[in-house]
Amino acid sequence: MAGIYLHIPFCKQACHYCDFHFSTSHKMKDDFVHALIEEIKIQRDYLNGEPLHTIYFGGGTPSLLSKENLVTIFETIHAVFKVSSNAEITLEANPDDINAIKLNDFKALGINRLSIGVQSFFDEDLKFMNRVHDANMAIDCIKKAQDFGFENLTIDLIYGTPTLSNLHWSRNLEMAFNMDIPHLSCYCLTVEQKTALANFIRKGKVANVDEQRSSEHFEMMLHAMNDKGYEQYEISNFCKQNRYSRHNTAYWMKEKYLGVGPSAHSYNGISRQWNVSNNAKYIQSLATGTIPFELETLSANQQFNEYIMTALRTKWGVDLAKIQDEFGLACSNYLLNQITEFIGRGLMFLADDHLYLTNQGKLLADDITSELFII
Ligand code: SF4
Repeated sequence: MAGIYLHIPFCKQACHYCDFHFSTSHKMKDDFVHALIEEIKIQRDYLNGEPLHTIYFGGGTPSLLSKENLVTIFETIHAVFKVSSNAEITLEANPDDINAIKLNDFKALGINRLSIGVQSFFDEDLKFMNRVHDANMAIDCIKKAQDFGFENLTIDLIYGTPTLSNLHWSRNLEMAFNMDIPHLSCYCLTVEQKTALANFIRKGKVANVDEQRSSEHFEMMLHAMNDKGYEQYEISNFCKQNRYSRHNTAYWMKEKYLGVGPSAHSYNGISRQWNVSNNAKYIQSLATGTIPFELETLSANQQFNEYIMTALRTKWGVDLAKIQDEFGLACSNYLLNQITEFIGRGLMFLADDHLYLTNQGKLLADDITSELFII
C-alpha cells in the first residue's frame, strides 16, 4: 500500500494558530506547479513501482489550485505511477473556495474524498482563528459537496478555543451529526511558537488556551461520538461505516509514502526525508533538476519510538508481539516495565497482547508516549 502526498503551499490569509508551511502570495503558483511536476518525475522510483492506493492533496489550501493546475498534476501522476482503480483521492478544501464549477472539476478529475476545513460553525470562533469563511459558507459548502455526490466527506473541527463555550462545542458536533458527515477530524487548539496566536497570548491580547476547558471538550466529544455511532480510530479522528481515512491510516501503519512539494515528508521504511520549507528555494532547485531535501536514516530506537507514538494513538494499539519480533526482547521488556505505572493509574490497558490508551490516557497521550521512548 503506497501513497502520495502533495503539499500545496498557498493560502488566502494566515490563520492565527497555523504553523504549516504556506505563503499568502500566489505569484509563484504556476512556477510551483511546474516544480512539483518535476519532482514527481524525479521521484518515479521512490515507491519501487508499487501502485498508488491513496493520493492526498494537503496544504496550505489545495482548493486554490486552478482546474488547469490540477489537470497537469493528475496527468503527471498517471504518467509516472500506476494508480489503483479504487484509489482514495482526497483534496483539502476551504469553504470559501467551493462552488459548483470547482466541485464539477473535482469530480471529473477523479477526486473522491473532500476534506473541508470548517473548524467551527460559529462566526465568533472563525474570527478568533482568522479564517476566511463564515459559518454560513461552511454549511453551504458541505451541502453543495453532498449534492454533488461527495459522500466520502470529512470536516475538521477545532475545540479548546477560548471563544468556544461548552454549549457551542456540543452544537458544533450536533451540526456535523445532523449533516450526516461520515468522518470528523477534531483537533484540540494548540499554541505553536512563532504563530500569531502565540504572539497575541504573550502580549495579553487574547486568553491562553485553558487545559480544563480542552479536557471538558474532549470528554464531551467522546460521549457525543459514541452516542452517534462514530468510532474513534485515532485520537483526533472519528468515522462511521468504516470510512477511515485510508491515507492517514497508512501513515500510522508505517506504509511507504512519497511527499512532494515544499515541506513535504517522505518515508520508505528505512529513511525519512523532508523538502525545504521555502517556495522560492523549492522552485529554484527543481528548475535545475534537484530536489532540495534533507534525509535521516532511522535508527532502531527511532523506529521503535515512531511506532509507539503512532500506534498508541490508534484503535489498533501497540502490538507487543511485533515489538518483540522487530525490536527484540530487551525493547519488549523495557516497554512492559515502563507501562506498569500507567496501567496502575488507569491510563493504559493490555488486551489480546496489545497495548491501548484508556480515554483518560488519551488526554495525556503526548506525555505518556514521551515517557515510553527509548532515548
Ligand atoms: S487555511 Fe489551513 S494551512 Fe492555510 S493558514 Fe489556515 S490552517 Fe493554515
